[in-house]
Amino acid sequence: MNLIALPAFTDNYIWMLHDGAHAAVVDPGDAAPVEAALDRLQLQLTAILVTHHHHDHVGGVDALRERLTGPVYGPAREPVPPPFEPLHGGDCIEVLGLRFDVIDVPGHTAGHIAYAQRDAPSAPLLFCGDTLFSAGCGRLFEGTPAQMLASLSRLAALPGDTRVCCTHEYTLSNLRFAAAVEPDNAVLSAHTRHCQALRAIAQPTLPSSMALELQINPFLRSREPAVVAAARAQGAASADPVAVLAALREWKNRFR
Ligand code: ZN
Ligand code: FE
Repeated sequence: MNLIALPAFTDNYIWMLHDGAHAAVVDPGDAAPVEAALDRLQLQLTAILVTHHHHDHVGGVDALRERLTGPVYGPAREPVPPPFEPLHGGDCIEVLGLRFDVIDVPGHTAGHIAYAQRDAPSAPLLFCGDTLFSAGCGRLFEGTPAQMLASLSRLAALPGDTRVCCTHEYTLSNLRFAAAVEPDNAVLSAHTRHCQALRAIAQPTLPSSMALELQINPFLRSREPAVVAAARAQGAASADPVAVLAALREWKNRFR
């Protein structure tokens, strides 16, 4: 199975899985990069997976329907362009012969879902939309810090070798923020150098891995003493992980 990140807009990725004949895409905000890849690789589009309703994730769905021979899957509680197969946390779908579990991850949007696959001989996959970014997390447009903490904890429980397929190339700016939170985190500084080298040659910094995110992502580290201390210095009311995550998110929103 092949995994490709198709760049879209200024910093989105549309993830494509294909087996050489059939393809599935995740969050096609724009149809053009998907159509170009289908043509170039001579693939038939058999599934579209949607994580949440934002336009940069669903904008290309309708235009792709004429090439699509299978379902559009999406979160039951969000306005995905109809018709689509509504999914809830705990559901399971089969895509290109792989089994994906649906995980509820409210916070960025109210009905946001993620797709986790862990039955392949290769490393497991996670399509997490705008919930988890490398070294960061999505903005809380429709949810609370408590919801986002619970959602991130569900993702953090996935196997360490899970390939984390985020939908935005925000890694370098997230790493700048993470370094402000944890200036003494050596894994963070080493990974920053690695990502700077990748971006210098216009390569994606993704997929990341869950094991790495647990070491570098402040939003997955709200119980780490250094992260708690930094959040307290930025106004976190207590060391409670929800208060820490809330303070981190507020801090990140104003961080330049
Ligand atoms: Zn979004
Ligand atoms: Fe987005």
